[in-house]
Amino acid sequence: MADKTNKVILVVLDGLRFETAEKCMGFLQALCAQGSATLYKLECELPSLSRPLYETILTGVTPATSGIVHNQITRNSSQQSIFSLAQQAGLTTAAAAYHWVSELYNRAPYDPIRDRHTSNAEYLIQYGCFYHADHYPDDHLLLDAEMLLQRHDPDFLLIHPMNIDDAGHREGGDSAHYRNRVRHTDVALSNHLPRWIDAGYQILITADHGMNSDRSHGGILPEEREIPLFAIGSRFSHLQQCIPEQTEICGVACELLKIPNHGKSVTEGLLQ
Ligand SMILES: [Zn+2]
Repeated sequence: MADKTNKVILVVLDGLRFETAEKCMGFLQALCAQGSATLYKLECELPSLSRPLYETILTGVTPATSGIVHNQITRNSSQQSIFSLAQQAGLTTAAAAYHWVSELYNRAPYDPIRDRHTSNAEYLIQYGCFYHADHYPDDHLLLDAEMLLQRHDPDFLLIHPMNIDDAGHREGGDSAHYRNRVRHTDVALSNHLPRWIDAGYQILITADHGMNSDRSHGGILPEEREIPLFAIGSRFSHLQQCIPEQTEICGVACELLKIPNHGKSVTEGLLQ
């Protein structure tokens, strides 16, 4: 396989709070222990809701500024995103993600017959596998992502599984069901990450928001706001002392993709 050092895989594990990621993701912690990954704690922007924070992660803009302030706002993003900046730089973009991501960057509202499988070089997300059931299995979504990697060799790939958030809404963030779902997703990731790491990809694994014990999220509780960021790859500094912000993930991805003049803020010290 050709060297992928300038390519980025961004994994957004929906609804994954920091504490559970730290305690239950044994495979990711093994990568940290052997020095291939570093775990940082982020505080998500507010409100701690999904669609507003997809936009924050992918554009570096807070919900109050983007106008995507709750989940029912069904329109295209008006901001420059990793997808638009990559496409303008002549790079290839792809996503295996919940359909709200298709609505933000490709077409809104989502029409599953038209949009579930997307292949169009004119779109901001050129190659997409979008899903609309919250219980669409994470391990199937990871296989969708593998298909996108193998067929289209994207420079930027977003992978966005939903099962952890779904478990939290069913049983709450301090339930066995939620913790076991996080453990399952860690195992699912372990089927793919070693090959991606060997190929040289720069990989970011994070969350949009956490999960409270009321089976929801949206406010300022630590369990809603504190989320993980695992940085994996040779171009990260792996320095523990840097403090990344959720609004900097977009700029970090743009730097890793070597997009010139992207104008997004980048965490000091996170990259080599
Ligand atoms: Zn949720």
